[in-house]
Amino acid sequence: MRSKGINLDSVILIVEDQATDALVLSEAVRDLGDVYIASDGPSALALARQCNPDLVLLDIEMNGMSGFAVCQELKADPKLCDAAVIFVTSHAQASNELRALEYGGIGFIRKPLDLPVARAHIKAHLALRNEAKQLANHDALTGLPNRILLQDRIEQALQKAHRSKARVAMLLLDLDNFKNINDSLSHSIGDALLIETAARLSLAARALDTVSRQGGDEFIILLPEVNGVDVVGDFAKRLQSTIATPFVLNDHRYNLSASIGISVFPDDSENAEALYRHADAAMYQAKLDGRNRFRFFSADIESSTRGRHLLEQHMRSALEFGVFEVFYQAKVAVGDAAVIGMEALIRWRNKDDSLISPTAFIPLAEETGLIIPIGKYVLRQACHDAQKLIEQGRQVVVSVNISAVQFLEESFLQMVQDILFESKLKPEFLELEITEGVLAKDVNTTQQVLTSLREQGVRIAIDDFGTGYCSLAYLKRFPVDVLKIDQSFVRDMLVDKSDAAIIEAIIKLAQALDLELVAEGVETQGQADALQAAGCQIMQGYLYSRPVPFMQFCEFLNARTMHS
Ligand code: C2E
Ligand code: CA
Ligand code: CA
Repeated sequence: MRSKGINLDSVILIVEDQATDALVLSEAVRDLGDVYIASDGPSALALARQCNPDLVLLDIEMNGMSGFAVCQELKADPKLCDAAVIFVTSHAQASNELRALEYGGIGFIRKPLDLPVARAHIKAHLALRNEAKQLANHDALTGLPNRILLQDRIEQALQKAHRSKARVAMLLLDLDNFKNINDSLSHSIGDALLIETAARLSLAARALDTVSRQGGDEFIILLPEVNGVDVVGDFAKRLQSTIATPFVLNDHRYNLSASIGISVFPDDSENAEALYRHADAAMYQAKLDGRNRFRFFSADIESSTRGRHLLEQHMRSALEFGVFEVFYQAKVAVGDAAVIGMEALIRWRNKDDSLISPTAFIPLAEETGLIIPIGKYVLRQACHDAQKLIEQGRQVVVSVNISAVQFLEESFLQMVQDILFESKLKPEFLELEITEGVLAKDVNTTQQVLTSLREQGVRIAIDDFGTGYCSLAYLKRFPVDVLKIDQSFVRDMLVDKSDAAIIEAIIKLAQALDLELVAEGVETQGQADALQAAGCQIMQGYLYSRPVPFMQFCEFLNARTMHS
């Protein structure tokens, strides 16, 4: 039997064979903890093993097993021996009381029950016990969990991770040169710095993480339930920057730094012991490498996260120093071979003049949010270039790729409007390419944004059509102008019957819904002929032109007009 109390931190077990006494007692203490009741010795022991009581109220005179015998067994069980036992008895002899103390009891409650007195006894014992628990599991200086509690949390996290296939990360953080600081200053300042460090680390962590102090200037942060190792690297960085903020004590500034070693279950450590050992080895490596840095134990994790951070840093400076360029690829109407449009494709020019493909950096740009400024740069450049062509009398529509992150960003519409305004490009000469995935992501927002774009006159194309989430209902619901047949179908259409069939179906669909069609990745005359025969009129691909810088694109246009 079990009744819920308000203070669920404490567990109280009542062992009493008189049902009415048990009930009266449980009512009296129900607000002091989680209350369990057993009516005989053996079931009390079984229940104790389940509920792990802080306090046992134990009747001495019971049928079968006596309260003394129960107490003896409790004290013999290493898991239960810490429970505080208070005996309940109607026999007030001193000998009984002495025996109770010998068996390890810490108090006495007399029957008939004087409830206020009993309650006061129980409350006092629970308070003492909680204090003892806090002392045993927490570091006295900082109040953080100590190694005992951490060990417990690690076991729990590992069990959970086994089941959910998640990761657990351990970060061992050691302050750099703290011994010198501590020795050269008064210890009270050293202590204050440690207390402040503990507070900062706790603030940086999530509620489910455990920030613990191991002793000295060594802290361990346990992250249960992490998905990617990248977030662990990001977290370590955050810890370092929170330590790097100067500490101010009594008008003095202290600059601290920390070295962090990281181990990850199950990637490089299969159990708690390995997590400790590997985090320690990695921390040592961080110190060897010059302190004030973090190191993963696993070289593989290390290099992948470092590569990513490097790329992200590069991307930020690339944006600043203008090494991104916009290339253009022609869209050709096969009927009269006219260039009716161009797709803007971003390029990143390396110092050695080589180009980095967008497939290498766009995904990370999306993840880090850098796609917002990068995408804005492309859109602005594309609109200005298109307006230049139009001022030269060339009616060319410019297509710009918009990733989902950009499209769903709050200020997206406003940004498009601003750029159209500043470039003077008429909206009907701008086409935005989005993928099917965007349509499925946030249907309401998408519909609003698309409708508003359509009202302004901007055209919408569905890129890579046929590869993603493809619902015909969406095509009817959203204002879409163009379908771009994905290049993977075009590539194999002449050798793979099912690709040819998909292309035919897409063409029929576009015709039925009155949508414009563009085939991309057209590399051979054979593909172009087959596409044209199936009913597709607009082509894009190496057969006509590769993506090229704007100047070259202008030359390409000039050459074509001269020939025709
Ligand atoms: P996408 O939108 O499907 O662009 C077409 C890709 O196919 C381009 O690759 C283009 O160079 C390539 N391509 C064109 N014709 C042919 C051909 O005949 N054969 C072959 N094999 N490939 C051809 P690119 O420029 O490397 O761009 C890759 C992807 O990166 C793009 O795929 C697009 O999803 C993304 N991307 C490029 N620029 C931007 C941008 O400014 N913003 C965003 N969000 N994404 C961009
Ligand atoms: Ca595209
Ligand atoms: Ca495409």
